[in-house]
Formats: sequence, structure tokens, C-alpha cells
Amino acid sequence: MKITDIEQELERLKKSDSYRAVTDYRMKSATRCFDRGGKEYIVFSSNNYLGLTHNKSVIAAARKSERYGSGSTGARLTSGAGFELSEFEKEIALFKGMESALVFNSGYMANLGVLYALAGEKDVIFSDSLNHASIVDGCRISRAKVVVYKHNDMNHLEELLKNTDVMPDGQRFIVSDGVFSMDGDIVNLPELIDLKQKYDACLMIDEAHSFGVIGSHGGGTPDYYGIDPKKIDIHIGTMSKALGAVGGYVVSSKPIIELLKNKSRPFIFSTSIPPSVAGTALKSLKIIEQHGNRLFERLHYNTNLMRGLLKQSDLKIIDGITPIIPIITGDSKTAIKLASYCHDNGILLCPIRPPSVPEGTSRIRLTVTAAHSEKEIQKAAAVIKKFMRNSL
Ligand SMILES: *Cc1c(COP(=O)(O)O)cnc(C)c1O
Repeated sequence: MKITDIEQELERLKKSDSYRAVTDYRMKSATRCFDRGGKEYIVFSSNNYLGLTHNKSVIAAARKSERYGSGSTGARLTSGAGFELSEFEKEIALFKGMESALVFNSGYMANLGVLYALAGEKDVIFSDSLNHASIVDGCRISRAKVVVYKHNDMNHLEELLKNTDVMPDGQRFIVSDGVFSMDGDIVNLPELIDLKQKYDACLMIDEAHSFGVIGSHGGGTPDYYGIDPKKIDIHIGTMSKALGAVGGYVVSSKPIIELLKNKSRPFIFSTSIPPSVAGTALKSLKIIEQHGNRLFERLHYNTNLMRGLLKQSDLKIIDGITPIIPIITGDSKTAIKLASYCHDNGILLCPIRPPSVPEGTSRIRLTVTAAHSEKEIQKAAAVIKKFMRNSL
């Protein structure tokens, strides 16, 4: 783009209701924030599923590890990253029932890092059409052939697996979100595993919104379906959602993890996360292991409460069981109007527009957490319904 065309492009974005702006809020608790003017909001736009960002012992663990410096001072291969990070890696591998783990600086970088290191020109990646942007971008930088299958459509995937040639020394990869970030639905893991075995493919599942959220132990999709986690070759996860910190991780076999350490540029050429962040994620993980049941129960209770309340109206909700509740408005203008009405009434919601979702499927992506009170949920549902009544 010519630099002189930028202002015109920004105008175009504004006119098409696609312009994005950053507003910062300070989190007072896991569900309450205030803006710079001091106005308070109830937050229904976060991925803080278990509310662990404001758990006292998690914050205490962050402080404790901060004693070992505010930063990690360099890339992992040059200066290491304190002991908390490798303790987290050991713990997450164990928890997920896999051999080994490696932390990247974000979930985004983990997806890029794995696809970059493992897939190349000779390989073919089969990718769900609603996969997260970081998977899409990982596919791009891998330089592998990319074949996109219809969302969660196993018949379409099989047809493509059958009809796409791969070189004799090439590998097929199947990549999917576990819980889809914008629709909140769950991958058809049992059939995906059948197909992976039938076509000798390597299966990678991104558990960003499923870890700590679904499954009786919060173990994500394999836990939810009661499937041996080793049937998934590569598990991607983030420390920024249920774990209330920041960072991304890959859990897999030892050889794959060792290869990543040696060949994954997003891992090699970026300073690793600081001890306080690793300490935060480690403590959150231990809380999930020890007291998870109580949190999952609360999360599911709140999810059902909110889904039930919203269903009593004319809203177009995508059905499901996860705390990601999409309210489809179709056009971007209505999504923005609804979010802005809620904002005026002290409820923070996020309008989602293309290119984050397909054209014509703009929506509010409402997320419920274990930390919300019944009152907060009832208030949000009432405000949303009132907007609907007024706009009819
Ligand atoms: C949020 C998300 C990511 C990115 O994780 P970050 O740690 O925020 O970079 C990756 N994959 C999916 C499916 C996500 O929803």
C-alpha cells in the first residue's frame, strides 16, 4: 500500500463499519472493570473463563517469582527463563497425558512455530474453514499446500483427503480448533481421529478455548470425548485464557518438541516470557488440578443460566454448551449498536466483524466466566433483551 493512500483506507474502514479502535480498561476484579473516566462495567468479553486472573494465590505466586527479575533477559536457548517455565512445561505435559511440552510467547506464536517447523513444501495441511487466524497464518508461513475443508464437515474432509495427492516423502496434517473461538462449538474429534488414522495424517488440535473449559478434568477435547490424548499428535494451548496469564504451549511427543527447540524460529528468535508470568500459569494450572471441579461446575452453571436467559428472546444464538455464546446480528452495524447500547448500560461486550468472521455473520461474542455472579448474568441478559425490544 502506498503510504499516501492510508488515510483513504481508514476512511473506507469507517464507512463500512469495519474500523477498529483500542479502549483500555482497568480490571478491578475478574468480572468488573472501569474506564479512565471511572465508569464501571461488568465484563462479558474476556476469555478469563475461570476468573483466575484475580485469584489471590495466583497473584501471590506471580509476586513470588518476580523476585527472580522482571524479565527473562533473552531467548530461551541463550539464557534460559528461570525455573518456573520448565516446571510449567513438565506439569502441563503430565496433566495432558503427553510426553513433553514447550512454551512459546503466545498461543499465536505457538501455532506459527509448529506449522513453520513441521510442515513444508512437500506437505499438505488440511485446515477447518473456521480455524483461528494464528492457524491460518501458520499455514501460510509453512509453505505447505493448504486445503481448507468446510467447518467441522468430516465428509468434506474425507473427500479432500482422498483426492489430494501428497509426495511420497510428504506428510498430511489435519489442523483444527478444539472449541471454535467465534462459534463456540466443539470439533468432531472421534471422526477426525478415524480419518487421521485412515489417511496416516498428523493431527494437531488447538485447545485455546477448551483447556480448563470442557472435559470432566478441564483437559479439553480428549477429556470431553473420553479419548486417549495421545491420539492427538500435537496439542496447542494458551496460557492467556483459562490460565489467566500470557504465553502459548505445545504438548506432544519428545521428538517433536526437540525438533521445535531446534527449528522453530518463533521459539528461537524471541525473548521468553518472564518468571512472574510462568509462575502465574504454573499456579493456575495447580489450582485447576486441585480445585478445578468447583470452578468447572460454576462455569457450566453460569453458561447454562446465560444461554437459558438469552434463549427466551428473539435473539439468534448459536446453540452449544461452551461459555462462548455468539449472538448473530448479521450486519456489522447492528453488532456495533448492540455493543454500544450495552456499553452505555455498564455491560462490556465485543462486536465481532469480518475478517474475524465470514461476511454477513457479524455478531456479539458473549463469554461467561466462573467468576460471574447470577445477578451480573441476569443484568446483562436484561440489557441485551431490552435493546432487542427497542430496536424491533
Ligand atoms: C486466542 C487463540 C489463540 C492465540 O492465543 P494467544 O495466547 O492469545 O496468542 C490461538 N488459537 C485460538 C483458537 C485462540 O482462540
